[in-house]
Amino acid sequence: MKTIKIAITVDDLPYHGSCISDEEKYADVINFLDILNNKKIAGIYGFINGKSIEEEYNLKKILDLWKYNGHKLGNHTYSHLDLRDTSSSLFINDILLNEPILKEFYSQEDLKFFRYPFLLEGETSEKRDSIRNFLDKNNYKIAQCTVDFRDFSFNNILILAEKKRNKKIIDEIRNLFIESSIYRINAAIKFSNYLFKRDIKHILLLHMCHITSTFFGDVIDAYKKIGCEFIPLEEAIEDDIYKTNPNLITDKGMDFLSQTWNSRKIPYIDMPPLPITLSGLNAMEKSLKEEN
Ligand SMILES: [Zn+2]
Repeated sequence: MKTIKIAITVDDLPYHGSCISDEEKYADVINFLDILNNKKIAGIYGFINGKSIEEEYNLKKILDLWKYNGHKLGNHTYSHLDLRDTSSSLFINDILLNEPILKEFYSQEDLKFFRYPFLLEGETSEKRDSIRNFLDKNNYKIAQCTVDFRDFSFNNILILAEKKRNKKIIDEIRNLFIESSIYRINAAIKFSNYLFKRDIKHILLLHMCHITSTFFGDVIDAYKKIGCEFIPLEEAIEDDIYKTNPNLITDKGMDFLSQTWNSRKIPYIDMPPLPITLSGLNAMEKSLKEEN
C-alpha cells in the first residue's frame, strides 16, 4: 500500500454555525481536540474569523483551548467576506482587521497562512492579482486545499437526529459522512495523478462544527486504513504544486485541483457517483423534520 501524505486544516474558528449554545460549542471543540490528542496528531492549523469573537466574546476561550493543545491559527479574514460582494481593498482590509487577534496568540515571526473564505480567489484578474500581491508582500502563504468533502453539510441533520433520538438516522449519517470523506480523498488521489502524474501532498479542509467533532475520529481511522499519513501543513505546502498559480478567474469557489484542471482546459476524468448528494441530504433532513 502506498503512503498518501495529508495535512488537516479546520476553517471558521472559533465555531462554524450558531444553532447551538456556547456550552455545546465548547464541548464540541474539546471533543475534537481530544480526538486529535488520542490519535497523536499535533500542530494543525485552525483558520479564524475574529468578528465572531467580537460579537460573542465567550468564544475566545475556544482559541485558548486550541493553543493550549498545541495547535496553530491562520487568517480566514475578519468577517468571512464573500469576495464576489466586495472590492479587493475592502477584502485586504478585512485580512488586516483579523491580525490583532492572531497576534495575541502568536508572534509575528510565525509562518502566516491564509485561507480564502468559500475558496473564492477572485472573479476578476484585478481582484485575484491584487490580493495575491498583498499576501505575498506580507509573507502570507495561501493554504490551498485538495480534499473538501463538505463536512458541514451533514451537520444540521445530525443535530436534528440527535434531538429526535433517531439512532437509525444517526448511524446512517455517520456512515455517509465517513464514506464521503473516503470518496473525496480517493478522488483527489486519482485527480492529482491525472494532473501532475504523481502523488502530491494533500490538504484536507474541515470546519469546526458538531458533526466533525463527533465523527472525525472515524475518518482518521478510515484514512489510515487506506495508507494516509498525517503531516503538518508547513510540510504539505512545500510540495511544488502549491508554488504554481492556476490563475483561474472564476466566481466559483474551488479546491486547488479543480482550479488547476479548469485552467488547463483538459478533458474531465470520470468519477464514480457521490455517496450522497446535497439534495439527497436535504431530502433526508426534510423527511426527518416531518417525522413525529
Ligand atoms: Zn470559511
